[in-house]
Amino acid sequence: MNDALLDQVARTVDRQRLIDTAVALVEVPSPTRSAGPAADRLAEILSADGFSVQRHDADWPQAPIVMTALDSGRPGPTLQFDGHLDTVHLPYVPPRVENDTLYGSSSADMKGGIAAALEALRVLRTLDALPAGRVLFTAHDHHEGPWGDGRQVRAMIREGLVGDAVMLPEYLASPLPVAGRGLAIFRATIHRDGEPVHEVLRPPGTPDVVAAGAQLVNRLHSWNEELKENSHPLVGHGSTFVGNMQAGEIYNQSPTECLVQGTRRWAPPSGSAAVQDEFSQHLAEVAAETDTTIDVEFAVQGGAYQIDSDGRLVHAFQQAHTAIAGAPLPLGAKPFVDDGNIYASEAGIPALTHGPAATGAHTLNEATPVEELVRVAKVYALTAIKFCVEA
Ligand SMILES: [Zn+2]
Repeated sequence: MNDALLDQVARTVDRQRLIDTAVALVEVPSPTRSAGPAADRLAEILSADGFSVQRHDADWPQAPIVMTALDSGRPGPTLQFDGHLDTVHLPYVPPRVENDTLYGSSSADMKGGIAAALEALRVLRTLDALPAGRVLFTAHDHHEGPWGDGRQVRAMIREGLVGDAVMLPEYLASPLPVAGRGLAIFRATIHRDGEPVHEVLRPPGTPDVVAAGAQLVNRLHSWNEELKENSHPLVGHGSTFVGNMQAGEIYNQSPTECLVQGTRRWAPPSGSAAVQDEFSQHLAEVAAETDTTIDVEFAVQGGAYQIDSDGRLVHAFQQAHTAIAGAPLPLGAKPFVDDGNIYASEAGIPALTHGPAATGAHTLNEATPVEELVRVAKVYALTAIKFCVEA
């Protein structure tokens, strides 16, 4: 990458405009499923900047997605910048900038990153720097679990409101994640027939749901040990984990229900449906052995995926990163699950999560260094310039 281009991009990123945009977004509280007002604010900012904004319900009319595009006018690939405007359901902390750091709800997760991606879009427009193709900029609700279920991203995929590759400015600055584990949250309810009854008055053969729960927990524990034997070079091994078990009212009453809740994580290339089938099989066996029935909710938050580390998106990103930081980012795995898992595992769209080195996601102390927002704006602009070339 030539130095003049880097220099132009660096000079065109407007630090104050970026801060103002991030603050304006953080100013509007947006807990998951209620991100409509924040989406409206983002649409206003884009319109005021002269971008032509589209809104689509995308399966959640309460907060239609915000979409705009920067088109070079020349045929070529589409690079998507995508972010979620919704936040976890914690008390709202208003924005403030102190010590060159942006604080407040969603400053890290992830309106700071969205503001940086938008600044990249402005820079690309000002410099008329896209060689070909276009950049699609999208923002939506319904990300954070357990309140959101990813429906807007899935609707965007169904309706074709996506790019050929996608970048997500979540709070992960290193490594460059080219793979990630899938995650499902499960809720298994073990039942027996009949009513709760005093221990000594149980009819002979009454199934014991607490013992069945214990058996299920043990089985998942043993399975977890087995899963450790198969390690993926980047993401490690799959797992099962139980974090919650509830049953019974008092010490000598036989209950009719036992609840077991936890997670199942898995490595690529396993598909979500096969993983769910295997999980259900374990539960069916425990149910048969304990003469109970087990209902399970298996909520897939995102599938496992791996993208081509030699592909066009990774190449473009690494050229951009090298221009700015002097070296490519080491490749690695994504520690969390985000919308990139859905794009990559369900639609085969290469997805890279890269954003500010911010802290405090999912806490009351989110903090994002302004310098990081500026850096991410440059990385996104340069990656688009390298990705959006004639095929
Ligand atoms: Zn996030």
